[in-house]
Amino acid sequence: MSEAQSILSALQIANRIVVVAHKSPDGDSIGSSMAMYHLLKKWGKDVRVVHPDAAPEYLQWVPDQSTIVAFDENTEESKKLLADAEVICCLDFNEPSRVGKDMQPFLEQASAVKIMIDHHLNPSDFCQFRISETSACSTAQLLYEWMEEAGILSELDAMIGACIYLGIMTDTGSFRFPSVTPYTHRILAHLMEVGVVHYQIHEQIYDTNTIDRIRLRGYALSEKLVCLDGLPIAYISLSAEELERFHYRKGDTEGLVNQVLGIQGIQMAALFVEKDGAIKISFRSKGNFKVNELAGAHFEGGGHGYAAGGISFTTLKETTEKFVTNVHEFIPVA
Ligand code: 5GP
Ligand code: MN
Repeated sequence: MSEAQSILSALQIANRIVVVAHKSPDGDSIGSSMAMYHLLKKWGKDVRVVHPDAAPEYLQWVPDQSTIVAFDENTEESKKLLADAEVICCLDFNEPSRVGKDMQPFLEQASAVKIMIDHHLNPSDFCQFRISETSACSTAQLLYEWMEEAGILSELDAMIGACIYLGIMTDTGSFRFPSVTPYTHRILAHLMEVGVVHYQIHEQIYDTNTIDRIRLRGYALSEKLVCLDGLPIAYISLSAEELERFHYRKGDTEGLVNQVLGIQGIQMAALFVEKDGAIKISFRSKGNFKVNELAGAHFEGGGHGYAAGGISFTTLKETTEKFVTNVHEFIPVA
């Protein structure tokens, strides 16, 4: 039996199914989780989505997103759902630590059959069934591909389709990254054929900025942008006080690092944000710059070659200094 078929069988014979994705939800983790949720709901399964933390506001329009249980807010309920599940679908992450240290032990200890569908590099071996394709542009695309291979594409409807569209769109910078293939566009065409209203999803994601968010981003770009002398590297750092000044809400700095990468001549961009007592770091690059290696070597992180992240527990100043000192060894030789 193919892995796609095995996953289908595991889901068909189970009733209590939990869908889990990584910490700090993004469009792909919410999109693929909710696509799976709507598919399993259609089959009458007792399915719940349990995420480490709640979705940012810009993703809260997703149909039934409000049914997601956030582990950090509803810890007891989340623990019970994980412990009682027959199957746990692990979507859009490659190792248990990506759900965060609070939730990780409960995911690891759960006796459920675990299924991974993911596109991050170096997947760890904690699931009985695994679809891991690191060249895929998004987990949402892998979910579609799984449905195709498992012979259940007839189940695709506008609701499941909208969730898949969201995941592909957000993980590809609106279909522009090198990871996008003709197959991606054939999927998008199919999604429109089953009734997905593509422009509404773009509007929900890109045209719902608050004034505070626009001002924070304007401030960050005009006052906080640092371009390293003679190097194709630029970064922005934001302190907790600066976020507070603009009434920061989750998601307000989403995509900001991509704007830095969009500066002429810049090949590598970084964003340092002081949040919850730590410095969360996002890296983006073009060309041969392997930002996952930088994130792994110095900032307890990882990710893809062109989009990675990490964390630092020193001050914002020390963190950016460490970055400036160490980034040199990762500049590709021309
Ligand atoms: P973002 O900058 O959007 O938070 O993250 C970009 C990508 O970097 C994610 O898709 C994920 O692959 C990776 N990433 C972000 N933060 C971490 C982290 O703390 N650890 C690891 N291993 N990967 C991360
Ligand atoms: Mn993803």
